[in-house]
Amino acid sequence: MIINNGQNSGNEMTHRTCPVCSNYYVQVFLKLKPRYSIKSSLGVRSTEMIIYSCKNCGVLFSSNLFSTDNQGIDDMYDQNYHDSLTGSIEYEKKSGILEHNRFRVNLVKQFVSKGALLDIGCSTGYFLEAARNAEFQVYGLEPSIYASELSRKRLDYGEERIEKALISESKLLADGKYDIITLWDVIEHFYLIREDLKHIIDALKKNGILVIRTPNKASIFFTLSTLLHNISFGLINNPAISIFHKDHNFFFSKKSLKMILAEFGLTVLKISPDPVPWKRFRYVECRRNIILNSAISLLYMVTRLMGGGHGMIIIAKK
Ligand SMILES: [Zn+2]
Repeated sequence: MIINNGQNSGNEMTHRTCPVCSNYYVQVFLKLKPRYSIKSSLGVRSTEMIIYSCKNCGVLFSSNLFSTDNQGIDDMYDQNYHDSLTGSIEYEKKSGILEHNRFRVNLVKQFVSKGALLDIGCSTGYFLEAARNAEFQVYGLEPSIYASELSRKRLDYGEERIEKALISESKLLADGKYDIITLWDVIEHFYLIREDLKHIIDALKKNGILVIRTPNKASIFFTLSTLLHNISFGLINNPAISIFHKDHNFFFSKKSLKMILAEFGLTVLKISPDPVPWKRFRYVECRRNIILNSAISLLYMVTRLMGGGHGMIIIAKK
């Protein structure tokens, strides 16, 4: 998981290669230097990092990709992380996660109605359970020990159906096995993006469907937090630090996602905003003080009224 391409960082112009499109010429987009350690809403602590921008495909990517001091997967995606995201009884009651996953299953059923489904980064198994209830033959891949065990318990499956592994070492990712593969808020965590995507696409059957949900770097949340950082010369940096958080390595645009999928031979069937339902958004994001909670809620409402969301979903066919 640790990658260092041996180049120095810090110049406004850099000759790092874009990990997505292999363009040679990328720029420094943001330098984030927290004055004190802050945590994202999912409990991941942020440290200094540089966000680079590729002028060719438009993706933003983080200096975490080149860091030699990354935490291990099990340290970063531990029980606290997954309990903040899914998995606790309280979360299930208050966040509307069951309805949200039924909604996601209904969405994918517009493209594939049955067959073998692999959910990559299946976390604690809520989507898998909803997909199994809708008659899919489900498989899950999850790098966290804690989450993969909870997922197996939830579905009463063994490791032949829910595997604790990285993409590069997975036995479940056999060539041509799946009718559909889903990645819900997962691709932005990848390190070896081209290699991992190739494994995933190879594992789809011909005409198989790939579903990717990820934050959209054009969202109002990214735009405003970057603007606040820049006009204050980095003094108001907490919004940017909390949204460009440490466990995300890539911040895609529609263009950058479309480009990489086209390069791997996929046909994009649909790309659209994918807002998190209000109940789930409020439960996860509005845990700060009343002023911040109100500001975040207002942004959410404005974004929804404008027909957008912080996330986007892309559905593509092999
Ligand atoms: Zn690029």
